[in-house]
Amino acid sequence: MTQRISHWIDGKTWAGVADRTGEVFDPATGEVRARVDFAGGGQVDEAVAAAARAFPGWRDTSLAARSRVLFRFRELLTARKDELAAIITAEHGKVLSDAAGEIARAIENVEYACGAPQMLKGGFSENASTGVDVYSIAQPLGVVGVISPFNFPAMVPLWFVPNALACGNTVVLKPSEKDPSASLFIAELFAEAGLPDGALNVLHGDKVAVDGLLEHPVVKAISFVGSTPIARYVYETGTRHGKRVQALGGAKNHMVVLPDADLDLAADAAVSAGFGSAGERCMAVSVVVAVDPIADELVAKIASRMAGLTVGDGREAESEMGPLVTAAHRDRVRSYVEAGVSAGASLVVDGRSVSVSGGGFWLGPTLFDHVRTDMPIYTDEIFGPVLSVVRTGSYDDALALVNANAYGNGTAIFTNDGRAARRFQNEVEVGMVGLNVPIPVPVGYYSFGGWKDSLFGDSHAYGPEGFHFFTRTKVVTSRWPDPSQGGVNLGFPRNS
Ligand code: NAD
Repeated sequence: MTQRISHWIDGKTWAGVADRTGEVFDPATGEVRARVDFAGGGQVDEAVAAAARAFPGWRDTSLAARSRVLFRFRELLTARKDELAAIITAEHGKVLSDAAGEIARAIENVEYACGAPQMLKGGFSENASTGVDVYSIAQPLGVVGVISPFNFPAMVPLWFVPNALACGNTVVLKPSEKDPSASLFIAELFAEAGLPDGALNVLHGDKVAVDGLLEHPVVKAISFVGSTPIARYVYETGTRHGKRVQALGGAKNHMVVLPDADLDLAADAAVSAGFGSAGERCMAVSVVVAVDPIADELVAKIASRMAGLTVGDGREAESEMGPLVTAAHRDRVRSYVEAGVSAGASLVVDGRSVSVSGGGFWLGPTLFDHVRTDMPIYTDEIFGPVLSVVRTGSYDDALALVNANAYGNGTAIFTNDGRAARRFQNEVEVGMVGLNVPIPVPVGYYSFGGWKDSLFGDSHAYGPEGFHFFTRTKVVTSRWPDPSQGGVNLGFPRNS
């Protein structure tokens, strides 16, 4: 019998019968491993109501007690990380070591949230006016929604959930329907760590569940991560319904290689960042900008490294790159390879010829050279193992190319020239920049976010901006006057 995956509402698995369900695949075999319930409006209401009931108690739980829950969650997650990695690999397809890396980065965010008492300290000004004190309080928003994509089924929910809870909010998490089990594992660990029932709920489903959260009057804020068209839609719909929204979108990340760079290091980085997780990372490098005269040599070095990559089931130790998440996504990525050939790009390595036993969703690493900026393989986010090389004649042209792109998530420059790198850091219009670092994902005590079409809203994810997003500030002005100081005065209050 196929396994059933259902919602987690008010500290337990939902006991109802779903009107609609979806298939969850094992991408390495192509088999359906489970069916996941899709929420309708009734389940959205149930989950939001559970979170709303839990809110007053959790909001008034002391900072010490809240952070103890997070510390316990961190210990449980660390102890059981191999189980979670196996769940991620079984539903997403990424290799186990990569799933372990995702969890390690997720744990950084939990550790940051453990410091909530420090982060939530307000300011206090004694004697702002004579006998008057002014201070600020950071308060939780209430029920918040987190909507996450398929490509980091543990890390992206944990970019938001620990910080939201640490600030005293309660959460309804709507993970991707393609790999829903990691979120349930996380919710169960939170329950074991002592989080009260209803403080974290997991609602499965598709657009119906998302729209239900975006329109629900009780939901105060939405943190979304996914593709740009949906991020834009979520931002516009959520804000129209009066919510605070941060919506992180897609990417087209350029790696600029200057002629003075170490080409072996640059080729290693391009292959690692281009094909890790089969290119299904929002920080994957998808465009290498080779500043002549080094393009021929760089392309040869990249191609020779690609020849040595092992594609296979993510559970096998020798596999370096797993399958794509679904057959539909594999076919879409494959259609871009065909589009690149038709548009006249040079196909240096053709991943369509990869051969792996079993019925999984396979596509091998693919490399195009002589890509022009009007080709669909350049303009569109492909989100698969397809790397494009664009050649430019100068540093200025390379920088202009990156800045002209609609996306602005991550970028990197490879060079040994500190001044060129510093100019890049200063002038590039991208939110996260790597200097000889191909995947510059900020550590948990900074914040993660792109510019332009890669982020809608004004708060980046996690770190200090996460705490800012999940709280609203109240400023109190206080005075304890002696009765003799009374008297009516219609003038506007001044400080004295
Ligand atoms: P997606 O946009 O298809 O789905 C994201 C979420 O939105 C899922 O929970 C999904 O159920 C929901 N959704 C899908 N269609 C919807 C619709 N029409 N209306 C309302 N909700 C809808 O993204 P995905 O394929 O799961 O993930 C890959 C994308 O996410 C890529 O574009 C990638 O760049 C992006 N991503 C961005 C970041 C970042 O930090 N900027 C991080 C990870 C992934």
